Amino acid sequence: MSLGTFAHMLVLNSKLPTVGTTIFSVMSKLAQEHQAINLSQGFPDYPADPKLIEHVAAAIKGDHNQYAPMPGLPALRNLIAEKMYALYGANYDPDLEVTITAGGTQAIFTALASIINLGDEVIIFEPAYDSYAPTIRLLGGLVKPFELHAPDYQINWEMVKKLFTAKTRMIILNSPHNPTGSVLSRADIDALIKLTKHTDILILSDEVYEHLIFDGAEHLSLCRYPELRERSFIVASFGKLLHTTGWKLGYCVAPVQLMNEFRKVHQFNVFSVNTPMQVGIANYLKAEQVYEGLPTFFQEKRDLFRSLLSETKLKLLPCMGSYFQCVSYREISDEKDTEMAVRLVKEFGVASIPVSAFYTKNTDDKILRFCFAKKRDTLEKAVERLLKI
Ligand code: PMP
Ligand code: GLN
Repeated sequence: MSLGTFAHMLVLNSKLPTVGTTIFSVMSKLAQEHQAINLSQGFPDYPADPKLIEHVAAAIKGDHNQYAPMPGLPALRNLIAEKMYALYGANYDPDLEVTITAGGTQAIFTALASIINLGDEVIIFEPAYDSYAPTIRLLGGLVKPFELHAPDYQINWEMVKKLFTAKTRMIILNSPHNPTGSVLSRADIDALIKLTKHTDILILSDEVYEHLIFDGAEHLSLCRYPELRERSFIVASFGKLLHTTGWKLGYCVAPVQLMNEFRKVHQFNVFSVNTPMQVGIANYLKAEQVYEGLPTFFQEKRDLFRSLLSETKLKLLPCMGSYFQCVSYREISDEKDTEMAVRLVKEFGVASIPVSAFYTKNTDDKILRFCFAKKRDTLEKAVERLLKI
């Protein structure tokens, strides 16, 4: 049957015309199709603590199943404020300066949405977590990427300064860093303080890997520094802290002036997030020492993975934090990293992430990222396969 006069070609002006499906979904799907060992998307393949599961199950059975207060459960916000003080000496008012979110991603989105106006410029350091640039663009902002390169991905702050204009509204930082595993040093912090002094530039500090930091290094949360605390949204993710990435629960802390704006958006974005999980997590955090063991737990995985990988032809890059290990394959092949990643899945049965996916420009340092938040057996099997390259 012909549509005749009813036919109409719908014109859709995409808000994100160049954006496709995220690399994490693409590589995880490919891994599944080829029954490859999936070290691409960052998530653990071991279970969360059964005690945590019991606390959440008890909350559901105990009828904590209706809307939580808009900014989150007070008990959980109190625990977060206590943690920020205990670990970083930073005072956050749990009533006014802490909000529970649907994971780090929503916290990032909401912080940007509450601040970015049409034409505002946001400086990001690439390789950068893949949600930053599209979110900025969606909001009418302009992405100002500062490219960092292998092997050490150090920031040259004198060069960063050149990106500053009258329209610079925000800087996004991420330490420990996904995908490179680098961490900010005290010299980086000093440079950041100096650069932002006497400006109205805000900072979005993505600290979702705050406890995944190795070799005795201390996490330099921006909230430790009053000059930075006053201008920063700090984002965290319970997915990373509790090995529950599928729960999509996280939080944002920020001084009251910033948090007021954040909550204006949050209330219409999600209003509030999953009640029984907030209750369960709060009771679990009260009963258990959760954070202390995390650096050692992940460092053991990093050390095992690095020692296994050192027998392969892949060249290890430094990894000081996060649950990602990057490798260079430049000495083996001059294929594009996207091609190499697909070939590793199809020919060797191991999935990784090509680091070019974290740059807005066509930048290919021939680096692949592997997630080591996996069981020993998974890491051993994966490297057995990588030895064949
Ligand atoms: N920021 C970074 C750097 C990440 O790696 C991730 C994802 N793991 C997030 C934010 C998002 O966290 P969530 O899964 O809690 O949304
Ligand atoms: N943060 C995870 C990673 O970097 C993935 C998150 C996602 O799939 N969106 O692999």
